[in-house]
Order: sequence, then C-alpha cells, then structure tokens
Amino acid sequence: MDVIVIGGGIGGLSAAIGLAARRAKVTLLEKNCRVGGKLNVWESGGFKFDTGPHVLTMLWALEEVFAAAGRKLSDHVALTQLDTVCRYHFENGDTLDAPGDPEAAAAAIAAFAPGEEAGFKRFLAYAQQVTEATTDPFLRQDFGASVRGVPTPAQWSQLRSFLALKPWRTLRQVVSEHFTDPRLHQIFELYALYSGSHPARASGIFATVADVQWRQGTFYVRGGLYRLAEALRETAESLGVKFRMETPAQEIIVHGYRARGVALQSGERLFADAVVCNADCLSALTTLVPETARRSWTEKRVETIEPSTSAFLLLLGVSGEYSQLAHHNSFLAADGEAEFDAIFKSARPADDPTIGVACQSVTDPTRAPAGCTNLFVMTNPPALSSSFDWQIEAQNYRDRVLEKLERMGLDGLRKRILVEQRWTPLDLQSRYAAYRGAIYGLSSNGWRQGFLRPPQVSPDVQGLYFVGGSTHPGGGVPLCALSGTNAARRIAGDTEGNNHNGLGT
Ligand SMILES: Cc1cc2nc3c(=O)[nH]c(=O)nc-3n(C[C@H](O)[C@H](O)[C@H](O)COP(=O)(O)OP(=O)(O)OC[C@H]3O[C@@H](n4cnc5c(N)ncnc54)[C@H](O)[C@@H]3O)c2cc1C
Repeated sequence: MDVIVIGGGIGGLSAAIGLAARRAKVTLLEKNCRVGGKLNVWESGGFKFDTGPHVLTMLWALEEVFAAAGRKLSDHVALTQLDTVCRYHFENGDTLDAPGDPEAAAAAIAAFAPGEEAGFKRFLAYAQQVTEATTDPFLRQDFGASVRGVPTPAQWSQLRSFLALKPWRTLRQVVSEHFTDPRLHQIFELYALYSGSHPARASGIFATVADVQWRQGTFYVRGGLYRLAEALRETAESLGVKFRMETPAQEIIVHGYRARGVALQSGERLFADAVVCNADCLSALTTLVPETARRSWTEKRVETIEPSTSAFLLLLGVSGEYSQLAHHNSFLAADGEAEFDAIFKSARPADDPTIGVACQSVTDPTRAPAGCTNLFVMTNPPALSSSFDWQIEAQNYRDRVLEKLERMGLDGLRKRILVEQRWTPLDLQSRYAAYRGAIYGLSSNGWRQGFLRPPQVSPDVQGLYFVGGSTHPGGGVPLCALSGTNAARRIAGDTEGNNHNGLGT
C-alpha cells in the first residue's frame, strides 16, 4: 500500500510511523524546511526556544506511537517531570504555586484559599472520571463516525458513563460547583483557553486537564520539546518513510470520489492508494480538496465554523535571571471576564491579557547562555479577522504585554532583552497554513464544535483521512499523536476491507 502524508506536524509524523510499521510505503510531504509543524524551534545568540508547545502531558499517547514501531519514547528523549505545574501571578501580588504532586497541590490551595481544599479534591476526582469515560470511546475513536452508525452494546455502556458526567454543563458551571474563591475560578476557567474556547461555552469535561496535569504529570524534554519532532522523524525514517521537505502540496488528486494521489505546487503528480492530510483541515477542505469533490464540507460550511483562539508570541533572550519565575508561569488578567469578552465578543486581543511565560532555562541551563534567561511569552488573541490588524497594531500590543510583565515584577525586562522574535497570528497562518491563524482549527464552543469536529475519515472522498489538531479528537500534542495512531489503524483496516464502527474498533 502506498500512502502520501501531507504535512509533518505531530499528527502527520505519528500517522506515518503507524502506517510504515504496518508495512505501508509512506511518502511525507512538508512545505517547510523542518518537520514538527507548530512544534518548532528558533535559536539566536546562544538562546534556544521552542516556538509552540511547552506543556507536555498524556505521555502515553506519544509512547503508543513509538511502541507501534517497536521503540520506546524514553530511548529517544530525556523526560523530566516538573515539580511545579504552574506558578500563577495575580495583579495584586498574590502568587499560587501549583505543585505537580496532587496532595501537595491540595495543601498549596488550602494555604492560598482556606476552605477550598475539599473542592479541589472533588474537582480532581471528577477530572479523573472524565478521563476514564472519554479515553477509549472518544479519544481513540472517530467519535463523529461512531455516533452516526448504530452503537454496539459496549458503546451504549460507554455513552451512559459519559452522560453520567453531565457533559452539557459548561466548564464555568463545573468550576463554580467546586470552588468559591474568584481567584481559583479564574485559574481553572483558563482550561477552556487551552483549547481556544470560552469557559461559559465549552463543556465541563475540559476539567480533564486537571487530571492530565496532576495525576498523569506535566513533563519537559531535555534540550527542548523540539526533540520530540526529531525523534519522530528519526523513527519514521528508520521504518523507511521518505521525507520530501520544502514540497508544498497543491491539490489532492481525486477520481470518482476516491483519493488517488497528490499534485505538488511544482507540477509533479504523485500517486498513492490513500492520502493522509495533516494540513489544517479547515484550510485543506477548501484548498487541497478539489472543488468538484466538496460535498458536505463546502466553503460555506467552513465559514460557519468558529475558529479557536490564536497565539501572540515573544521569544526573549534576556540578561540576568528572575528568581520569581518557575518553569511555567501565568500572569493573570486583572479582569478575566473582560479578557474573554475582548477575545470572543469583540474579536480583539484583550488590553490586559493573561500572559503565559515559560522559562525553560530554570530547568535546563542549555537553553540560554550562562547568567541569562530564555523567556517564551504567549497570549491568546482571537483568530484573524477584520476586527484587528496585526500589521498595524503588533508593536503597540508587544509594548503592552512587556509593560504588564514589568508592572507585575519582571523589573527592567525591556532593557534586558538581548534577542527577540515576535510572532503574530499572521505568522501561524503563513508558516503552517493554520486556518485564520487559529491554533486548533475550531474552538470547542458549544456542543457541535466540541464533540463533532471534522471527522478523520473524509465523508466526501474515499481514501482521504485527516489527522492533526483541527480534526478529531482535537488540538495539543497528545491528541494530535492519537489522531495519527487512529488514522494509521483505520487505513490499514480499510485497505484490508474491514468494516468499522469508529476508528478504534
Ligand atoms: C504557540 C503555541 C503553543 C502551544 N502550546 C501547546 C502546549 O503547551 N501543549 C500542547 O500539547 N500543545 C500546544 N500547542 C498546540 C500544538 O502545538 C498543536 O496542537 C500540534 O502541534 C499541532 O499538530 P498537527 O498535527 O495539527 O500539525 P501542525 O503543527 O498544524 O502541522 C501541520 C504541518 O503541515 C504542513 N503543511 C500545511 N499545508 C501543507 C501543504 N499544502 N503541503 C505540505 N505541507 C503542508 C505545515 O507546514 C505543518 O508543518 C501549542 C501551539 C502553539 C502554536
């Protein structure tokens, strides 16, 4: 079986490994000069930065990718479990250190907000139930496809467990059922932003983040998270996957509603038995899929989709150290609701945004020259729209972000910058073909978008499969890895003529 994979993000690399391990002949096309997609790197003046993911969780999803190739993740990368999940900094000077150990975290919360410890423990227990009820039926399957078919008795039972979690409640409702302190509301509502969504519109099942961070652990990869992309590429190559870099796909070749290969921008045409598309599917559905083959996913339908949030990044190499920084920090907005209103109602970045600051040099001295610090500074602006022009406003916005960090304790930050790189949503759009610069394709606002993402198996074109953050099961490194594993299993099954009711069966 010949398979072409378009895009070398986590989903594409994982699918390529899963397919090559099943003896498929795989060619991976990547438009950029490096694999990794949004998991990427930037280096300057002895400073090293990851430009995308910093929080690594759900290691088992990546371990499964390596296991398919008879390898171990730990043979390729050195992992460190972080002692502190995040240090939260409030405008009034309050800070909360959230230790990685759940018992220690409960004690920290009790000291920070007396009386909230029991609620935190109940929240963790609920989060664990969510993980248990969703991992097999939701994350390991094409949920959309399985609910469209006739559910098996096992699926009915899984559905009952899922409904027992009352997934129609919003994250905001679930958080208020467990905490009274407004500062804790603000912290736990941020879980919705981790999927680019609003806490009053995203399902309460996003509480699962607490389980993922605390029970499963939060990790750092020595030498930077980009090592993961390199390890995936090395593994794929060892299985015979052929990489063609700086090779943008122009169009998927479709004959009789069946994918037959890929036409490159260079004019070359490559033929295959199946095509796996890791390019953001909201972009691909209306660009790479030929117009004549768009039936259910038309341009009009894509336009009705609400994209997830995007990212504004500053990569700063600075002189000296800031002892108040942990590996992961969150400098919270003074008014969390005003931030959500700006993003989701006005479609503009908040004037006073929550700022994530990752400081890898706290854990790994190889990330910055001696006596210096590497800072990855990120905010969550909305996806690109006519409401905000980054070409005009990026410099002011950058200044506002740095002023806020100085006001909240990073003294003299601007004077200490030695190297700087700025990325706006326009960069995410142009570098990775991300739909409107959104990080995860669509938001998880509302039932339909939260639970019925564009399916991994194209409903319009046979032999065309989607992987990555904009399809099922969703965004983030582990879920993208799962999408690749799921797709490889499904394609192998399809080409052997098996019947499926969901990807996991
Ligand atoms: C700033 C930022 C911070 C993040 N933080 C975290 C985090 O802390 N933890 C976490 O788990 N996740 C995080 N994420 C999300 C995570 O990075 C993504 O969900 C994941 O990496 C996306 O993988 P993917 O499989 O969707 O592929 P992508 O990364 O979207 O890659 C797709 C690839 O396809 C290529 N491509 C597109 N079109 C074509 C074409 N026509 N021809 C050939 N190639 C093409 C692109 O160049 C790209 O390499 C973050 C993302 C960003 C941007």
